[in-house]
Amino acid sequence: MSETLFTKIINREIPADIVYEDDTTLAFRDINPQAPVHLLIIPKRHIATINDITENDRELVGNLYYVAAKLAKEMGFADDGYRTVMNCGENSGQTVFHIHLHLLAGKPLGWPPYSDKMKQA
Ligand code: 5GP
Repeated sequence: MSETLFTKIINREIPADIVYEDDTTLAFRDINPQAPVHLLIIPKRHIATINDITENDRELVGNLYYVAAKLAKEMGFADDGYRTVMNCGENSGQTVFHIHLHLLAGKPLGWPPYSDKMKQA
């Protein structure tokens, strides 16, 4: 799959509220937050879905979690707790085909994360 709007955010071609950047990784606030804090942590290199992660990407993908923990500590919600989610494909509801780790925080988060309607299906 081809590059997405996240490539445009990486290249500063469209604006985003960027909270972190290093050589391989960018983190910015979700445009439609589902919690008081909702960040997206992405690799700068385009990888469409979890299924497209290769052996060479193991360090790159691990860094997404390192950055999640780093931001949780720096932003002050590490001890309260938070959730990380990475959707993959149609059944998960993935809409942007550039892998991204959702980081949700700032309130108690329900579990399991799917609706009652979906549970009955
Ligand atoms: P997915 O459903 O693929 O797991 O998550 C995609 C996320 O990207 C959604 O939470 C959506 O709100 C967010 N998103 C979509 N377009 C933009 C955008 O232009 N800017 C930002 N910051 N987030 C976006």
